Amino acid sequence: MAKNRTFTMLKPDAVENGNIGAILELINTSGFRIVAMKLTQMSRKDAETFYAVHNERPFFGELVEYMTRGPIVAAVLEKDNAVEDFRTLIGATNPAEAAEGTIRKKYAASIGENAVHGSDSDENAAIEAAFHFAGRELF
Ligand code: UDP
Ligand code: MG
Repeated sequence: MAKNRTFTMLKPDAVENGNIGAILELINTSGFRIVAMKLTQMSRKDAETFYAVHNERPFFGELVEYMTRGPIVAAVLEKDNAVEDFRTLIGATNPAEAAEGTIRKKYAASIGENAVHGSDSDENAAIEAAFHFAGRELF
């Protein structure tokens, strides 16, 4: 299995609820190396661009409100099979359907406010990492 990279955000609810440390601990103990990381806040335009694929969906307005209401932690993570393994670690989009031990099962409140983002493909991981980080910020 080749080493590759995924992109994550610890979303505003995770930051507000004081869960940054616990979630990073799970990320580390699951074998991911942090390649880049920062506390940042998305503007409305940022969130609309980042989630443009969902802009026709009924939840889009709420998603943009949620993702812009406070700071997030953006990070790039490296591991063998990073994209798929990180999706497994975070669990289903709806925490009610997320497996025991997953980040969303532990820390997400609802399908909308679900604590964490994980890229869904290598291609999107590269696009999303480049959205938040310059090349010189990746280690
Ligand atoms: N979302 C929502 N309602 C839904 C589906 C998704 O509010 O019915 C939000 C949720 O925050 C989710 C994000 O939109 O994480 C992106 O949706 P996607 O289907 O890509 O889920 P993910 O890839 O984050 O699991
Ligand atoms: Mg998605």
